[in-house]
Amino acid sequence: MPSAEVILHQTHGIFANGQWHRIPDTRAVTDPATGNLVGTVAYAGKTEAALAVDAASQAFPDWAARTAEERALVLERWADLISAHREELAKVVTLEQGKPLAEALDEVDGAAKFAKWYAEEAKRVAGEVVPGSARNRRILIWRQPVGVCGLITPWNYPASMVTRKLSPALAAGCTVVLKPALQTPLSAVFLFRLLQEAGCPDGVANLVTGRAADIGEVFMQHPAVRKVSFTGSTEVGKLLIRQSADQVKRLSLELGGNAPLIVFPDADVEAAADGAIANKFENAGQMCNGINVMYVHEQVAAPFIERLAERVQALRVGHGLHPETQMGPLIDHAAVHHAHTLVEDAVRAGARVVTGGHQLTGERYERGSFYAPTVLTGITPHMRIAQEEIFGPVAPVVVFRDEDAVLKTVNATPYGLAAYVYTRDVRRVFEVAERLEFGMVAVNGTSLSVPQAPFGGIKESGEGREGGHFGIEEYLNIKYVSVTLGP
Ligand code: NAP
Repeated sequence: MPSAEVILHQTHGIFANGQWHRIPDTRAVTDPATGNLVGTVAYAGKTEAALAVDAASQAFPDWAARTAEERALVLERWADLISAHREELAKVVTLEQGKPLAEALDEVDGAAKFAKWYAEEAKRVAGEVVPGSARNRRILIWRQPVGVCGLITPWNYPASMVTRKLSPALAAGCTVVLKPALQTPLSAVFLFRLLQEAGCPDGVANLVTGRAADIGEVFMQHPAVRKVSFTGSTEVGKLLIRQSADQVKRLSLELGGNAPLIVFPDADVEAAADGAIANKFENAGQMCNGINVMYVHEQVAAPFIERLAERVQALRVGHGLHPETQMGPLIDHAAVHHAHTLVEDAVRAGARVVTGGHQLTGERYERGSFYAPTVLTGITPHMRIAQEEIFGPVAPVVVFRDEDAVLKTVNATPYGLAAYVYTRDVRRVFEVAERLEFGMVAVNGTSLSVPQAPFGGIKESGEGREGGHFGIEEYLNIKYVSVTLGP
């Protein structure tokens, strides 16, 4: 039975064809709050990635031929095991990623929900029969699993991103090779041990930690891999699009964002400020659908900023395992540097620091990558901080006057993942949601990721959806079969 102790402070190999294989080259996983070692994983390359793809390829015909109920049973057991180990898995998430334990527990519960939901969705994959063009002709439309899939996940949600990809893939009848982020591979190791215990057949799900570029190349060049699903930066997503051309691989891409929050003058201002904080400071601002910039109407700007600043100042920052902690560290020092560079640039261009605006130092934060929760006012949309994804605990506020102009501004970004709106006017709800060029819009709330809804973006935020019945379609091919019955 896997436990946190079996995962932490151990050395893990790659997992291929139902076996863990140790390799000599390894990399340390460290706690971003302390810099301490929390585990060691294989640093694999092309050879190991190809081995894992071969295992997935051999396992594919049998897994695809199983009934939906058989595949669902594995996913149901996986979901139950994740729930049974929620505290231990959450501890691993916190130690390698940094988020407070309460947030890690939410993430783990969400991870179990994806497995549970796709266990059910596996049984709802159906074809169609449409009228033929002749009396003796029948037209059938089937949905069949795509084949072997290469899955690449980021470090910010190291548990839920794994189940969000594996669950629909396995439910559809695909076999997979997962490459988790090198900074947070231990949650994936834990999840794979649970999946093995859930009775997942050998070779159906394989795990390779290691050199990203090499593993990515194997995914793109190995003819057995028919699809790659990637969550991460837009920069790497564009590279994968280019690499996918040679073999016309199917792609799903969940990429970066620049989510606006728009607070209209008729909004419930307190609810808007509270919603803004819940979203912006979750995971220390390292969330793809996290609010990047807050656009607040001039009539409600003063009370909004006052409540925002008051609550942000009160946020307790520290180690994620400490029960008092409300915000943990950023993933590494480079992330702190990136956030601070954007803050400094904004200040040089005329922004005002209401609270925060600096790295946290001193005994409590020594060796960790902590940044103070920050609120900036006097922001204008052309500043770098409004244009680029901050991915840190910094809340820049733009005060606006004109509804039409603010919509043009927020739509001008090349990204299109999520947007948030606060208004009590039902006419405005629909008019604004229709005009926003984003894959997801939340009105009077700031939480979006649930297993039953299609999560994903447009424009440079990617293509494809995860969640809902849309999520399983990403792993299914459509086949049109025309049957002529006779003369
Ligand atoms: P990243 O650098 O693109 O890394 C993401 C994953 O891609 C990691 O597993 C990484 O491996 C791997 N990778 C890096 N270079 C690669 C290459 N040449 N070929 C194949 N794989 C490669 O992104 P990140 O900084 O970890 O994650 C933050 C970004 O992800 C943000 O932009 C965020 O908005 C986005 N994100 C989007 C969503 C969404 O649903 N839209 C969700 C979460 C995050 P290594 O760790 O080994 O480098």
